[in-house]
Amino acid sequence: MKQITVTSPLLPPLEELIPHLEQIWKSKRITNEDSYHAALEEAIKEYMKVPYVSLFTNGTIALSCALQALDITGEVITTPYSFVATTHALRMNGIQPVFVDIDPISFNLDPSKIEKAITSQTRAILPVHIYGNPCKLKEIKDIADKYGLKVIYDAAHTFGVEYENQSLAMAGDLAVLSLNATKVYNTIEGGIVVSHDPEMKKKIDLIRSFGFVTESEIALPGTNGKMDEVRSAYGLVGLKYVKDAIECRSRVAAYYRKALRNIKGIIYQEDMENVKPNYSYFPILVETEKFKWNRDELDNQMKENNILCRRYFYPLISSFTPYRELPSANPGNLPVAHSISDSVLCLPIHHALSEEDLERVVSIII
Ligand SMILES: *Cc1c(COP(=O)(O)O)cnc(C)c1O
Repeated sequence: MKQITVTSPLLPPLEELIPHLEQIWKSKRITNEDSYHAALEEAIKEYMKVPYVSLFTNGTIALSCALQALDITGEVITTPYSFVATTHALRMNGIQPVFVDIDPISFNLDPSKIEKAITSQTRAILPVHIYGNPCKLKEIKDIADKYGLKVIYDAAHTFGVEYENQSLAMAGDLAVLSLNATKVYNTIEGGIVVSHDPEMKKKIDLIRSFGFVTESEIALPGTNGKMDEVRSAYGLVGLKYVKDAIECRSRVAAYYRKALRNIKGIIYQEDMENVKPNYSYFPILVETEKFKWNRDELDNQMKENNILCRRYFYPLISSFTPYRELPSANPGNLPVAHSISDSVLCLPIHHALSEEDLERVVSIII
């Protein structure tokens, strides 16, 4: 039986990439923000319709540099329901993460619980648009404005997502996307910071490349977060195929929703209002008391049939060793996150699934 995986990288056609590789080989310019890098920043900026884009070597470094660009220290309020890199980016910058519980419908940070977690040390909020679902933007902005906090969105899942007819990455002081192979659009490894003014873009780009202004002038202590020319060319070719890939994903989501509509004990998310989604994930919740199996039993049944689902996001970040001793990591503080994390399973969704594949996945559940 053919293996069905939760995702599959959107690879650009090799024959389209090769002429670009030949050009890069001929020029011998393989990195250091050269012409393909510039072209990809421009193309992504146009695709997303955002004012400023800074490319990065991956999303984690991009997140870290975004925090540095805003001079964030002290405490930052964030969600435990995400990929571990969200919280690592804080800790690696000497920032104390403060976990706040999530909303049971969107699985995003619950704004009504943020204010209680703010202290004199709080400097920012780092929410995640999980699965590409928009956070409650207005509520979060109002709280941030009231307390003078910055908002950095971990928008890793949001490539192509629009909210009220503009890119979801427009929200926040900065938004950070991942272009890792597992995401809707990839540069193998890669990341993006979206910013809103030329001075901020300049600062982010300085942090990205050792703080170099010129060969003999260093503006600030920076790192090396650069994307190279080969991956930039790969990304430039791949960008043409994203719209079609999202269209394929939307058909997968429609298939699952129709097939699972009346299955007792299986809950899935509907498209949110005013959102153009990218169908990056298809999470279901398994209600143990109503369904024939619990979540892990369903996951194992899938595995036995060579279908690889993923328990995104179990365990919670707050349950991992580096974070579990934090006061805010107490499970009593995060009841909704624990309940979702204990029952979630992400079904396979990507551009290359056939009707036959989808029938196989659904047949295990129904
Ligand atoms: C993928 C991901 C990241 C990290 O991005 P990389 O490009 O893999 O470094 C950060 N946050 C979330 C929510 C992610 O899913």
